[in-house]
Amino acid sequence: MRVALAIDLGGTETRAALVGDDGRFLAEERAPTRANDGPDAVIADMAAMAARLRAGRPDIAPIGIGVGAPGPLDGEAGISIAPPTLAGWRDVPLAARLAAATGLKARVENDANAAALGEWSFGAGVGTRDMVFVTVSTGIGGGVIAEGRLLRGRRGLAGEIGHMAIAADSKLRCACGALGCFEALASGTALGQAADALARSGGAPALLERAAGGPVTARHVGQAARAGDATALALLDQEARWLGIGFVNLLHLYSPEMIVVGGGVGQLLDLLLPGIRREIEARAMIAYRDVPVVPAELGDRAGLVGAAGLVF
Ligand SMILES: [Zn+2]
Repeated sequence: MRVALAIDLGGTETRAALVGDDGRFLAEERAPTRANDGPDAVIADMAAMAARLRAGRPDIAPIGIGVGAPGPLDGEAGISIAPPTLAGWRDVPLAARLAAATGLKARVENDANAAALGEWSFGAGVGTRDMVFVTVSTGIGGGVIAEGRLLRGRRGLAGEIGHMAIAADSKLRCACGALGCFEALASGTALGQAADALARSGGAPALLERAAGGPVTARHVGQAARAGDATALALLDQEARWLGIGFVNLLHLYSPEMIVVGGGVGQLLDLLLPGIRREIEARAMIAYRDVPVVPAELGDRAGLVGAAGLVF
């Protein structure tokens, strides 16, 4: 069995693992990301994690190192362009620097694309030729598998589905600076903010109680909805409407065999699905309406599995 050293570089936490070409994890560790300390510190930490994993399993010789890292990132060139979650990163040749630090061949990909590759190779999308992966959590990210390969586009920037503009007159500002992005309307952050505003105005006492003095979040909405709270279910219905509108765009653009939904909000897919399907029925052309929308299967391991797959 071939083994890859996989790293999932996040804005708050970095995870590393030895992953077999069957998708199994042979060793794993995690550490906080020094996101404010610049690329030298972060790359040194990644190399140290890689060294510790290899030292712990001297019986295994990884054939390369695969990394999922925050975008925008040019996977083919191996360059991290300017990730907003990592301070001081600008055109960092991440693949070349990791190769130099570890002596292994190195490949990098943006984290959402890596997760899409993971779900395609070992998760919900196994066996498909065309698939769209959408992760709905703090933001919205995604990756497109088209005709049996990851769609990269110019500079590896394709598939930034969170920044599709879907509401022309929205006042909701996205993390990217624009108004009316899919992410600004349908992310877990947006759901939490809508719920919090409703609760503060007296319209959601059960949510206010769950928040126990703090802000109401998407997690509280999910918990209350599972308990049958009508207000939380209505908030999820609105969330499902925005997700459905975004998914209709994805169906028309990429004609996938399935849409795979991950992330924290994705764990509520069973509750969201009726509303999502209603939007698809109402807005998609007939030929697209039978495409299944399914939950991701790998959870927070999708990114690591996909990163490993970069070197197999
Ligand atoms: Zn945006």
